Amino acid sequence: MPIGNCVEMRGISKRFDSVLANDNVTISAAGGEILSLLGENGSGKSTLVNMLSGIYRPDGGTIVIDGEEQRFHSPEDAISAGIGMVHQHVMLIPVMTALENICLGEKDSDIRRELGGAVLPSPFLRKKYTRGKIDAIIKKFGLKVNPNQKIYDMSIGEKQTVEIVKALYRGARILILDEPTAVLTPQESEKLFAVMRNMKAQGCAIIIITHKLGEVMEISDRVTVLRKGRVAGTVVTGETNPRELTGMMVGESVEMEIKRETFEGEDLSMLKVRELGYTNTEGLKVLNNLSFDIQAGEILGVAGIAGSGQKELCEIITGLRKAGRGSVTFLGEELLGLSPVAIKKRGVRLNFIPEDRLGMGLAGGMSITDNIMLKSYDDGNGPFIDRTKAREQAEKIIERYAVSTPSINHLVRKLSGGNIQKVLLGREIEAKPRLLITAYPVRGLDIGASYSVYDMLNRQKQEGVGILYIGEDLDVLRELCDRLLVLHNGEIMGVLDPRGVSKKDIGMMMLGHAV
Ligand code: ADP
Ligand code: MG
Repeated sequence: MPIGNCVEMRGISKRFDSVLANDNVTISAAGGEILSLLGENGSGKSTLVNMLSGIYRPDGGTIVIDGEEQRFHSPEDAISAGIGMVHQHVMLIPVMTALENICLGEKDSDIRRELGGAVLPSPFLRKKYTRGKIDAIIKKFGLKVNPNQKIYDMSIGEKQTVEIVKALYRGARILILDEPTAVLTPQESEKLFAVMRNMKAQGCAIIIITHKLGEVMEISDRVTVLRKGRVAGTVVTGETNPRELTGMMVGESVEMEIKRETFEGEDLSMLKVRELGYTNTEGLKVLNNLSFDIQAGEILGVAGIAGSGQKELCEIITGLRKAGRGSVTFLGEELLGLSPVAIKKRGVRLNFIPEDRLGMGLAGGMSITDNIMLKSYDDGNGPFIDRTKAREQAEKIIERYAVSTPSINHLVRKLSGGNIQKVLLGREIEAKPRLLITAYPVRGLDIGASYSVYDMLNRQKQEGVGILYIGEDLDVLRELCDRLLVLHNGEIMGVLDPRGVSKKDIGMMMLGHAV
């Protein structure tokens, strides 16, 4: 592998209608180098790498691979040039095996060419050939995957590994990963990093997009920071720090610490969950004998691999899923089996920030005002809607929660992710809850918006609201929450003081190991 830049994007620009997504962006990665691409949501990272992988075409600038200028007209062109892309959301066919997915779209002529044109592959020979090639890749890069396993039987980490094998199978020497760790446990991320280090040692050039500063510091050789479509700077990882990188990202230095406020009021157990169990329609035990309390003025965090029962727990507490054994009481009032409306009618002020903001939370096709009115509907106050009041409330939320929108009549789905979340949080918090259930409230938000969410939650906590915070970033869970409940396969592995336990130990518990 020659020393020098394996891949370069020089002065790249790309416009979508009124948005200049990339403005004169230059990045490069040498063989044997890992470049992190860092930037807030909407800063143009995905757009940039999508041009490298042939999905979009640049309006201006050049792409140079191994010193040669390239023009990609399709993803196939990029693959031929040695570029492999691992998307955040895996693009594999679930009912097929890893092997079938990996060689999907491969033509007989490709195989014939690789075999020197000699053999006309029978299905048997073909399979033998591809299997041998896959096994060699798995061995070379230290990957862990079973080629005969069906995709639907795989964890997200394994699916991602299949994507990597697929890219390498097609001859990728330049690998692009768009937020690969967003969906992984700390252990899975470590495994991915080990694979990346192997690829680096073999001379591959790697570009990784991530939001997590700790990962940038750990894995990359250099970092290019994008801000509003432009390069804010490129620095050597060993010569920078998270604070400096954050400053480059947002254009100013920010307070990096997540505060953990204290509640001065009296101890009061608001929500008591006792021996809560839930078996789904397929007979699977989704929640198994959960018992815990949420105190007034505390943030109880929940850590767990996605799909460990978090969603069902939220839905059962809030009455959206009328199911479950055991009991869930709010200040002595049994909630289990009640609908959300019935819960409200009993004067229980319980509000929910669901994971699925535009499905269960807000109606994307309606304006901010209409979404506020929508909420007054399910208050059980009947169909008499006070539009003036809703408008006033919308104005208030926009001001108080710094929602950036042209007007209260703007459709919710046209807002950015951070602003959608602010509208939702604003609406729920303005309902003056005593108990707030939040599921991944900062997912997809940039740093600035995430911090404003932590601030809002802390303010609620200081007013004595009990908060359940389902999260995925262990750093955030440890800093923000008063206590941390670790969930594995629908069971509580422990409820701990999050600052008294290492991230590694939390990760072990998430995987079902007692520590
Ligand atoms: P990032 O990956 O850094 O979050 P993106 O590259 O996805 O950012 O987006 C950069 C900007 O370009 C955003 O303002 C986004 O709304 C806009 N954008 C991205 N893709 C498209 C598209 N296909 N059509 C219109 N606008 C787009
Ligand atoms: Mg992106």
